[in-house]
Amino acid sequence: MTGGATTARDDRSLTATFARLIAATGPLSIAHFMAESNARYYDSRDPLGLTGDFITAPEVSQMFGELIGLWLTDIWTRAGAPYPGHYVELGPGRGTLARDALRVMRRQGMAPAVHFVEGSTALRAIQREHHPDARWHDDLSTLPADAPLLIVANEFLDALPVHQLVKTAAGWRERLVGMHEGRLAPVVGARPMDAAVAMGGTVSAALAALIADAPDGAILESSPASAAAVRAVAERLAAQGGAALFIDYGHTAPRLGSTLQAVRAHRKVDAFAMPGEADLTAHVDFAAMAETAEAGGARWMGTAEQGPWLHALGIGARAQALARSAPAQVATLNAALDRLTGESQMGTLFKVMGLANPGWPAGAGFPR
Ligand code: SAH
Repeated sequence: MTGGATTARDDRSLTATFARLIAATGPLSIAHFMAESNARYYDSRDPLGLTGDFITAPEVSQMFGELIGLWLTDIWTRAGAPYPGHYVELGPGRGTLARDALRVMRRQGMAPAVHFVEGSTALRAIQREHHPDARWHDDLSTLPADAPLLIVANEFLDALPVHQLVKTAAGWRERLVGMHEGRLAPVVGARPMDAAVAMGGTVSAALAALIADAPDGAILESSPASAAAVRAVAERLAAQGGAALFIDYGHTAPRLGSTLQAVRAHRKVDAFAMPGEADLTAHVDFAAMAETAEAGGARWMGTAEQGPWLHALGIGARAQALARSAPAQVATLNAALDRLTGESQMGTLFKVMGLANPGWPAGAGFPR
C-alpha cells in the first residue's frame, strides 16, 4: 500500500475490516479503533528514526538512556536493595534506551536481568540483536516476583488506546468511529453517558469542574489501558519493591480536548485515514496516572518536566564530557541537548513521572 488514505474498497486494508465491522455491528469505540490500528502498525515495522515515522528521546542521543541508567543505579543503591534485581522496559522500541542505561548500570557493578514487555514481532527481533539474554513478555503479569523491579517506559503509555466523550446539547455521548461518505470518520454515539462514571468513577475536583462547565462540542479523553498498566506497575512496586519512570508527552492537570493524533513520515495525518499505517497516540493524563499509582500502593515522587529533570540529573555536564572526548561532535551534541531539554522541543511537553515502593528513598530530580 502506498501513501494515500486507504478506502473501504481496498479489501485487505484495516479500513475495509473496520468498514465491514461497522456495517455489521455499528460504530466502534475510539479505543477499539486505536488498539487494532496500533497493533497492526507496530507489529510489522520499525517505525523509529529518520527513515521511519517518528524519533524518540533515546534515538536522539545516548545521553537520555545513560542518565536514566544513573537514576536507576542511584535509587537502587540508596534503597540498599540486593543485587542483581530486574530491569524492566515497557515498549522498548529498538532497545536503544536499554542499551545505554544498562551500559551505565553495568559500569557501576549492577547486572540486572533484562525483561521487555513488547507487543511487536518486528521490534522484538531488533531488540533481540542487542539484548540476546533478555526475556520477553506480552504484558506485566508474567514479570518475576522474586526481587525489586526497575521499570522504564518511554513513549509507551501514549500508544495505548483512549476513549473519548463529547458534550452535546443532550448531554455527554461517547465519540465513536463510524462511516461517512465511504470513509472512516468520528461520529457521536446515541446512548447518553454519565461523564464521571465513564471517566473511571472516582473523579477529582478539577475533573468534576471541567465536566460541569464543559461547552457543547467539548471532548473528554480517558485511557483505561494506561491506567491498568500504571496500576499493575504500582502494585508490583508495592509488593516486591522497586521504582519506575514513565516518560511521555502529556499534561499534569485534567483538560478538555481530543489529543488523538496520527503521525506518518514525521508529519501529522488524519487520524482516521490510514489505520495501521500511521502511529496513533494520545497525550498522557499524568494527573490521572498519579492517582492511579497511589491507589495501587506506590509512592508518587512527582511528575517533572523532562528538560528540568534531565538538567537536575546533570545532562549539561554529560554533554560537556562527551564533547571533550569527541570535539568534532560538539554541534551534534548541542543540538541533541536542545532537542531533549529545550522549551520549544521536548523539554516541557514531555513529562517524567517517578514511582517507587513507599519504603524506598526519593528519586533524583523529584520533590519527594
Ligand atoms: N520506548 C521506545 C519506543 C517507543 S514506541 C523509544 O522510546 O524509542 C512504542 C513502543 O511500545 C514500541 O516498542 C511498541 O511496539 C510498544 N507497544 C505499543 N503498544 C503496546 C502494547 N499494547 N503492548 C506492548 N507493547 C506495546
